[in-house]
Amino acid sequence: MNKSQDIADFKKNALQLIDYIINYYENIESYPVKSQLKPNDIYNRFEAAPPLEARSFEDILSDFDNKILDGITHWQSPNFFAYFNANSSFPSLLGEFLTASLGVNSFLWENSPAATELEQLVMEWLRDSIGLPKYFSGVIQDSASTATLVSLLTAREKYSNFEINKNGFDERYKFRIYCSNEAHSSIEKDVRIAGFGSNNLIKILLNSDYSMDYFDLEKKIKADIENGFRPLAVVSAIGTTGTTAIDNINEIGKICHKYDMWHHIDAAHLGSALILDEYKHWIDGIEYCDTFVFNPHKWMFTNFDFSAYFVKDKDILIKTFDILPEYLKINIDNVNNYKDWGIQLGRRFRALKMWFVINGFGMNGLREKIRYHINLAEKFEKLLQSTDHQYLIPPKDIFEIMAPRVANLVCFRWVADPNLTNANINELNIKLVDKLNATGKIFLSKTKINDNIIIRMNIGQTFTEDRHINEAFNLIYSTIMTF
Ligand code: PLP
Repeated sequence: MNKSQDIADFKKNALQLIDYIINYYENIESYPVKSQLKPNDIYNRFEAAPPLEARSFEDILSDFDNKILDGITHWQSPNFFAYFNANSSFPSLLGEFLTASLGVNSFLWENSPAATELEQLVMEWLRDSIGLPKYFSGVIQDSASTATLVSLLTAREKYSNFEINKNGFDERYKFRIYCSNEAHSSIEKDVRIAGFGSNNLIKILLNSDYSMDYFDLEKKIKADIENGFRPLAVVSAIGTTGTTAIDNINEIGKICHKYDMWHHIDAAHLGSALILDEYKHWIDGIEYCDTFVFNPHKWMFTNFDFSAYFVKDKDILIKTFDILPEYLKINIDNVNNYKDWGIQLGRRFRALKMWFVINGFGMNGLREKIRYHINLAEKFEKLLQSTDHQYLIPPKDIFEIMAPRVANLVCFRWVADPNLTNANINELNIKLVDKLNATGKIFLSKTKINDNIIIRMNIGQTFTEDRHINEAFNLIYSTIMTF
C-alpha cells in the first residue's frame, strides 16, 4: 500500500460513509429511540481477540450496521426526550470531521495558532451572546464536571495562597463548599477529587420552586464560621438537572461577596437559552460571579464534547495550573497556551465545530431553534393540562405538573386516581416510563424529588418538531389506557 492508494481508498470509503450517515439521518425515526438490547448482547457478538489482518471497509461498515447499530440509543432522534440532550447538527458534524482530519493537539499556541485563536474567538462570541461581561475569559473544557472541578481547584488555590498546590492540605484549611440539594452530582464528585471531602459539601435547603434557599445558605455559612470552618465557595445552578430550577445568583452572589467567597455558576443545560434576551435576567448579579460554565454540547447543536467555561480572573486560573518543563517552553509572549487553563495537557481542536455551528446557523438561527423548543415545551405542558384534545380524559386520570416550567423541560406525573397512596403513584409512574421507553417510540427519563417520582420531558433535540410533540402526547395517553 502506498499513500496515493490510501487516499484513493479513503475517498471511496468516505463517500460511502457519508451516504450511510445521510441514510441514517433520513431513517432515524424508524429505529427504537432507546436501544432494546440486553446487557452483553453487543459484547457477545464479537471475537475475544482483535483481528490480526486489516479488514475491508465494506466488512467494517457491515459489522457496524449488523452488530453495533441496534445497540445505539439514538440521541439524535427527534423523539429523544430523556435527560438533557447531547444534540448535534450538520454544521457541527462537518466541523468535527475536519477536526479529526487535522488531528491537531492544541496545548500550546504554536501547535496551531488557528486552534488557539479560534478558541479565543468563539469563546468571546459565546460570552457576548449569553451576556457575560467582557472581563470574562473563556476556555473550552470537555464537560461541566471538569469545568466545576477546575473552578473549585482555582478557588482552593486562591484562598490558600497557592499553598495547597505546594504542600497539600493541612489542619489550617477547614474549607466548606455549598450547593443546593438539587445541584448536580458532579459537584460532589469534584469536591471529593479536589480533596475537600464530601462531608465538607454542605447541601442547602430548597425553595418551593426547587431553587436554593439563600437564607438557609447564609445561616449555614454563619454556623460554619462559628464552628471554625472557612466557607470557601458556593456552586449555584442556572437550571438544576432535576427540574431546571434557577438559583437566585444575585442574592447568592451578594452573600459570597459579603463573606469573601468564591461563586461558581453551573448553567450546564440552560446556559444556551441565555442567547435569548428574555432570559438574560437569570444572570442579574453576574458581577459577583467568579466562574461560569454552560454546555453547548447539550442544547446548542454542537456535538459532544464542548463545555464553555468562563473565568473572571484568568491569572489565578493559570497560576493554579501552570507547570513549565523545558519541552513545553516557547519563545512567544502574549498568546494563550491553553495547557495552563485546565487539567489535561493534550487538547482537541473543538473550537472548529462551534465556529461551524455559529456560522452555519447564525446567532439568529440558534435563537430561533432554542425559542422553538421552548414553545414546544409550553405546548406539551398545555396538552397535559387540557381536556381539549382527541382523548376524553376520565375524571380520575390527571397529569400533575410537578415543577414550574422554566424553559424546555416539562416535569409531570400521572395520577391515575387521587385515592392512591404516593407510593402507588410513584410505582405507576415508574412503570409508565418503562412501558413508554420499551415501545422504542420515545425516550423519557425520570427523577425523584420530595419522595415523588417525576417524569421529565426535555424538548431540545435539533430535529424535534410540533408533530413529535403531538405523537409523544398521544403515545403517553394511549399507554395510560392500557394500565
Ligand atoms: N451540571 C448540570 C446542571 C447538569 O445537568 C449536568 C448534566 O446533565 C452536569 C452538570 C454534568 O455535565 P457534564 O456531563 O458535561 O459533566
